[in-house]
This record gives sequence, C-alpha cells and structure tokens, in this order.
Amino acid sequence: MYDCHTHPLGHEGGDYTIERLRPFVERGMAAGLKGLAFTDHEWYHRQIDAEVVERLREEYPSFKVLLGLEVDYKPGREEELREIIAEKPYDFVIGSVHHLGSWEFDHPDYRDKYNRWDINALFEEYFTVVAQAVETGLFQQVGHFDLIKVFGYRYQGELLEVVEPVLQKIKEQGMVVEVNTNGLNKPVQEAYPTREIIQRCLALDIPLTLSSDAHEPRQVGQYFNKIRPLLRSMGCRQLAHFEQKKMVIEDF
Ligand SMILES: [Zn+2]
Ligand SMILES: [Zn+2]
Repeated sequence: MYDCHTHPLGHEGGDYTIERLRPFVERGMAAGLKGLAFTDHEWYHRQIDAEVVERLREEYPSFKVLLGLEVDYKPGREEELREIIAEKPYDFVIGSVHHLGSWEFDHPDYRDKYNRWDINALFEEYFTVVAQAVETGLFQQVGHFDLIKVFGYRYQGELLEVVEPVLQKIKEQGMVVEVNTNGLNKPVQEAYPTREIIQRCLALDIPLTLSSDAHEPRQVGQYFNKIRPLLRSMGCRQLAHFEQKKMVIEDF
C-alpha cells in the first residue's frame, strides 16, 4: 500500500527540511507501506523543495518517495493554479475543494454556517464545484471526495444520483479517487468517500488510492489495516498511485 496524501508542513508551514520529512518515511516503513507521497497544501508551494525529496529517495532506495501537491480549488483560480503546478516536478496533484465562496466549510470554527443552508442544496453546490475542479484537467487525484459530510450532515435521498455526473467526469479525465481515512478522526467517523460511492467507483473502474491525510508522522497509514479488508470485501484488488504523472496500478 502507498499513502498518497500527507502534509509534512501541516498547517504551520515553515522549513521543508529532510529532518521534517524523514519521520514520515520512517513511520511509513514501520507501517509496512511500499511508499508515500508528500502532498503539502499548495499555499506552501514556495517552501516545497524537490531536492529534499530527491535526497530522501537516495536515502531510502527500497521505499517509494513521491512528491505531490494538494490544491485548494476555487472557480477562477485555474490560471494561477496551472502556474503553481508547473513550478515543480510533482508526481501528481490532488484537487480538493475546501471552500464554497469564502466559507471554509470543513473548519470547525465556521460550522454554524451549515444552519444557513438546506443540506441537500449544500451537497449539490459542493459537488458542482468538485465537478468544476475535475473538468479543469489540472489534477490526477480527487481529494476527500465527499468532504462536505465532515460534520455528519447527510444528504436526504439518493446521493449517488448527485455524484454520478462527477464520477463520470473523473472517469473521462482518467483521474483517481482517494480513500481518505482522515474522516475517521472527524465527527462523521468514516472515510471519504462513503461506502456506496466507493462501490460505484469500483463498478465504473475508477481506480482508487489510499490516503491518510497525515499532518504528523504518527498518522501516516492511519486506519489502512482497517480499510484494507473493507475494500477487499467490496471486490477491490488493486490500488493506484502516480509516478511522474503516470498512473501505476498494483495489487494490494
Ligand atoms: Zn484537504
Ligand atoms: Zn490534505
């Protein structure tokens, strides 16, 4: 298994040093992973140093160290994002939606704004923006596909009907959906995306990746041993990751 989403710079930023990254690799190896990707938030793009990652690759030749980027997609940012992505030799880029307008809807401090929305309309709005992110063609991996459920609010009715057009676009773009275990740490208490969406991805042959969204080394590979039997019970036998923007599929 590969952990395709980690944040060595966390939410603090600071220096991108080998001392800061190495514990993530050590933890990944201890957890029995085959590799991991550093995918800091794009607002730290200036700090990210591909040479540090290269040095880690030399230090750990038997462990795959990948360099990615998690982009905070908002409509209208396309050109700015294109430039940021082109700056460094990223193996892949995660497209994530954390904002609706100026509302950072996954942040606990702004949770009360959910009260202003009809929840179904909110889900539909969120997935409209996710679809726009997919359509840009800028990304290889969709980050925490149904993040809008983070606080446990649920769509009333057939969620699959809402997400089906987004999944079709993901398939057209040749993208992957990550199974992000960090949702198990959140009020919703389950991975992103929800089981029925994972099942639909499998039915559509949309490849999956595994992601911890670790913001500290101890979280690398978190809950992977719990999610693995679940995925296998759903018929998933292979997982993806990206090297130099090329998708690699391996049994797991
Ligand atoms: Zn994110
Ligand atoms: Zn993240």
